[in-house]
Amino acid sequence: MSNISEIFGSMVFNDDVMKERLPKDTYKAYKKTIMEGKSLDINVANVVANAMKDWAIEKGTTHFTHWFQPMTGITAEKHDSFISATSDGKVIMEFSGKELIKGEPDASSFPSGGLRSTFEARGYTAWDPTSYAFIKDSVLCIPTAFCSYGGEVLDKKTPLLRSMEALNEQALRVLKLFGDTTTTRVITTVGPEQEYFLIDKEVYKKRKDIVFTGRTLFGAKPPKGQELEDHYFGAIKPRVSAFMKELNNELWKLGILARTEHNEVAPAQHELAPIFTNTNIACDHNQLTMETLKRIADKHGMFCLLHEKPFAGINGSGKHNNWSLSTNDGVNLLEPGTSPYDNARFLLFLCAVVKAVDEYQDLLKVSVSTAGNDHRLGGNEAPPAIISIFLGDELTSVLESVEGETAYDKEFKREMAVGVDAIPVFPKDTTDRNRTSPFAFTGNKFEFRMVGSKLSIAGPNMVLNTIVADELSRFADILEKADDFTAELNKLLKDTIKNHKRIIFNGNNYTDEWVVEAEKRGLLNLKSTPESIPYFSSEKSVTLFEKFNVLSRKEIYSRTEIVLEEYCKEINIEALTLIDIAKKDLIPSVTAYIKELSDTANSKKAFMIDIDCETEKSLIYKLSLLASSLYSKTELLENKLLEVKNCNGVEETAYFYRNSIFAAMQEMRAVIDELETNTAKKYWPFPTYGEILFSV
Ligand code: ADP
Ligand code: MG
Repeated sequence: MSNISEIFGSMVFNDDVMKERLPKDTYKAYKKTIMEGKSLDINVANVVANAMKDWAIEKGTTHFTHWFQPMTGITAEKHDSFISATSDGKVIMEFSGKELIKGEPDASSFPSGGLRSTFEARGYTAWDPTSYAFIKDSVLCIPTAFCSYGGEVLDKKTPLLRSMEALNEQALRVLKLFGDTTTTRVITTVGPEQEYFLIDKEVYKKRKDIVFTGRTLFGAKPPKGQELEDHYFGAIKPRVSAFMKELNNELWKLGILARTEHNEVAPAQHELAPIFTNTNIACDHNQLTMETLKRIADKHGMFCLLHEKPFAGINGSGKHNNWSLSTNDGVNLLEPGTSPYDNARFLLFLCAVVKAVDEYQDLLKVSVSTAGNDHRLGGNEAPPAIISIFLGDELTSVLESVEGETAYDKEFKREMAVGVDAIPVFPKDTTDRNRTSPFAFTGNKFEFRMVGSKLSIAGPNMVLNTIVADELSRFADILEKADDFTAELNKLLKDTIKNHKRIIFNGNNYTDEWVVEAEKRGLLNLKSTPESIPYFSSEKSVTLFEKFNVLSRKEIYSRTEIVLEEYCKEINIEALTLIDIAKKDLIPSVTAYIKELSDTANSKKAFMIDIDCETEKSLIYKLSLLASSLYSKTELLENKLLEVKNCNGVEETAYFYRNSIFAAMQEMRAVIDELETNTAKKYWPFPTYGEILFSV
C-alpha cells in the first residue's frame, strides 16, 4: 500500500486541486460563492468544469454523473460521457459549466409522494459546490441537490443544507449577543459511527430471506451467540482484516476520514468510525462509505449487511450520530470552556439542545423510524423508543445549581450566577459513558444513538439542526430585547432547565422502571414507524419547518407519505418472501424428512416386528403438527395480504402492516424456528444462525 498522505483524497477534486488548477480569480470567485451560499456564475462554472474534466480524464475517467440522494435513501447516478462530436466526424472531450451546475435526469421513477406525476417527469439536479466532486468507479461524480420541475425538493440533501443555513443564522445571532464579532459562520459537525455485519458470500446466497429483504426472517437461536462477549474489540480475523485494509484505502482515496475500526458485540459485527466533518460532507461520505462497504466485501467473498436487525436475539446495527456545532474558526460550541464567560455560552447552547430534544421528541423519533429500525428501538435492545438525554452526573448537577435547587459549589454552598465569575470550570465527564441513552452528551458533542445502520443521516441531522435553530432563535428573540443581558440570560437558563429537565435521564434506559418513570414524566414512547411518522405532518412540525424554509407543507406531506409507503413495501416484501420460503422450501423439506422417518420406522418394523420406534414416532408426530401449523399460518398470512386493499389511506395501511401482517410473520417464525430445531441437518434447506454468524 502506498503512503496514506499520498492516496488520501487522490480521487477528490478538492481545494488543493482547485487552487493548483484554477486561474486565481476563478478560484476566488468559486470560494466566495461557497462562503456566501450563492449559486455559481456560469462563466466561473465553465472554467471550473473544464479544469475538472481535464483532471478527471488524467485519472482515466470518460464519464461524469450528477450524484444525488433521492428519497430512496440510497444514491442515484446516470452516467454521461464527455464525448462530443465535431463537424468533421471526430470526437472531442467536453464538459461545460452548464453540465456541471445543472442536470435533468428523468425523475419519474423516484419516490415523490405525489409531488410530481409521471407525465411531468422532469427533475433537476443542481451542483452542491460545498461538497467536492470525486471519482468513483472511473466516473466523475458531482454531488447534487435534486428537485422537481415545480421547484419542490425531491431529495435528502437540500433540506439538510437548508437546515444548516437556518442553524447558522440563529447561532450567529446568539454569538453576537455574547459580543462575538469575529465568527462569520457556524456549521454543524457530524461523525457517524457505522455498524455492519460481514458474512460469507456463499452462505448469503443460500439465504433467500437475506437476499430479498436484507435480514433473516427466521432462524433458531445458535448454541453460541454473543453471550460470552468475546467478540467486542476482539482480535480481527485475517479475512476481515484484509477487507478493512482495502476498505480504508478506498475510503481514503475519496477523502473519507475513516479512522477507527473494531469488532462489535455480536459475532460477525464490526464498526467503522470516521473523523467528524461538516454535516453535509459527512452525509455524502456516509453514503459513499455504505456503498464502499458493500463493494469491497463482495471483492473479498463476503456480503456486508447494513440492515438494522439482521438476526433476532443478536445485537442489531445502528449509526451513532455524533453531532456538534463549530464556528468557522473551529471553536466547538459544545465544549465546556475554561472561563466563566465561555461556560455561559456553552450552557446556553447546551440548554438549546436540551429544550429542542424535549420539545421535539416526536420529530427526532420520526427521523429514525423505519421498518428495520423498529426492531431495535423499543425492542429489548438499545436504545429504547423513548427519547431522553444523558448528561452525566457532573453536568446535571451544574444545571441543577443554575436552576437554583442545589448548590453546586458544595464548599461555599452558593447558588451560581452565569456570566460572572461564579461558574466553576467543569470537570470533563467523559469516563462515565452511558451506553444505554439514545441521546448522550459525550464531553463536547451529542451522540444520537437511535439512527439505524442503513439510514441516510441526512434526515436525523436535518431535524436536529432545525429544532436547535428554533430554540436558538427563541433565545435570541428574548435576549436581544434584554436591558440587562446577564440577568436575562440567567433567567432564561433557569427557566429552560426547570421546564425541560424531565428529558434528562442518567440511569439505565433499558430497564422497565425507566419506561414507567418516562410515562410519569410525560415523555413520548412511540414504539413503531406507523405510530411515529404521522407526527411529521402535525401543525407544530409544519410551522417549524416552514419557519426556517427547510421544508414546505406540501413537501412534508409528500415525505410523510413516502416514508409510510416505504414501510409498507418493506414489510410486504418480507411477507411474500416468508410465504415463498415456507411453501417452496420448508414444508417440502420437512415433509421429506417425515417421509424418511416413516420409511425408517416401516423398514425397522419389517425387519423386526417388536422393535422400538418411539423416536421416529414422536418426531413424526411433532413435525407433522408443526408442519400443519406452519401451513395454516402461511395461508393466514396470504389472506391478510389480500385484506390490505381494504385499508383507507397510507396511515391505516401502515398500521395494518404492523399489527396484522408483521404479527402474522412473527407467528410463522416461531413455528419455523421450532421446526428448524427438530429437523435433521441434511433436510434443513438453509444455513443456520450458527453457520451464518461464524461463516467468515
Ligand atoms: P467514542 O465515542 O468511541 O469514545 P470519539 O469520542 O473519539 O469516540 O468519537 C466518536 C465519533 O465522534 C468519531 O466519529 C468522531 O469523529 C466524532 N466526533 C468527535 N468530536 C466531534 C465533534 N465535535 N462533532 C461531531 N463529531 C465528533
Ligand atoms: Mg460512540
